[in-house]
Amino acid sequence: MRDTSPLLLNTDFPPLKRTALTTLQVNLGYLCNLSCTHCHVNAGPKRTELMDLATIELVLAVLRQKNITVLDLTGGAPEMNPHFRYLVAEASKLGVEVIDRCNLTILLEPGYEDLVQFFADHKVTVVASLPCYSEKNVSEQRGKGVFELSIDVLKILNDKGYGIESSLPLHLVYNPNGAFLPPDQHQLEQEYKLRLSTDFGVEFNQLYTITNMPISRFGAVLLAKGEYDQYMNLLKDNFSPSNLETLMCLNTVSVDWQGNIYDCDFNQMLEISLVSLRDEKEWSGVIASDSSDFSQTQNSFNDVTKMKRHIRELLAEDMFGQSIAIGDHCYGCTAGQGSSCGGALNA
Ligand code: SF4
Ligand code: SF4
Repeated sequence: MRDTSPLLLNTDFPPLKRTALTTLQVNLGYLCNLSCTHCHVNAGPKRTELMDLATIELVLAVLRQKNITVLDLTGGAPEMNPHFRYLVAEASKLGVEVIDRCNLTILLEPGYEDLVQFFADHKVTVVASLPCYSEKNVSEQRGKGVFELSIDVLKILNDKGYGIESSLPLHLVYNPNGAFLPPDQHQLEQEYKLRLSTDFGVEFNQLYTITNMPISRFGAVLLAKGEYDQYMNLLKDNFSPSNLETLMCLNTVSVDWQGNIYDCDFNQMLEISLVSLRDEKEWSGVIASDSSDFSQTQNSFNDVTKMKRHIRELLAEDMFGQSIAIGDHCYGCTAGQGSSCGGALNA
């Protein structure tokens, strides 16, 4: 599988600076009850990478010290981390909104049947991927039987009040099934609501449309089909500067299962580390010494972003005003209506 990262780092994307940190997005590990072919982290039932308790305690320490308002949990299936319930319970005691990015089917697995009640007790926000409202399209993307199971679980969540009571939010996620931009989020949400309600009696709150990023498996498919340049041109031609003000990386830090930190989930997948203030000073020195040589500057920046940064460093650092590590993939967040883990940026 060819990797797009060498093509992405030499970029003309505008520089970005951090604002106040409000969200921690934490990957609890690659263990999952499913093993979808499109999975960007190759999660599955045999993966053993899981965030340990010591790192989870650091996550909680950062939530406390930085007054973070949102904890966004991903995986794998985040619920399969043995410390999942402890983390959720402690975070919700702090008044933090906890988001669980859920594949839905985990809630039917033995040992997890009581999770819906646990979610409701802790007012966890559930965000679930449902690439279409029709069985045929979902089966093509996620495998046979996944659509029916997902509908069953959505009904269980509805029965508990999810998607119905204002304190129990249930959001769905749509990704385009190919090299095109998502349709208008609001319009698609109306279609989803009508079809899911009419056909299955399922209710939900919001639909998040998310643009496919030219990285990981999707990036490799673009390269294999010779469509990489075309897709990058699509993203760049639809660049919308107003999205720069609401990009998720401005106020979010992404944490991997080992506790390493990144500006966003996409940079985590590309292994482009967050730049610490100390490194930024060194990097600025390189720019000052030879500002005419763009490639040298870029290479120095790339060297800096290869160095791992750990969540414990957040406890000693105020990130406000810090530079964000950018690449050409960032055009995926600014194209058209914009894109983030919370859907369109200007919907
Ligand atoms: S459910 Fe999600 S995390 Fe699990 S294998 Fe599928 S895509 Fe990967
Ligand atoms: S990919 Fe998007 S979220 Fe990540 S650094 Fe670039 S603009 Fe920010």
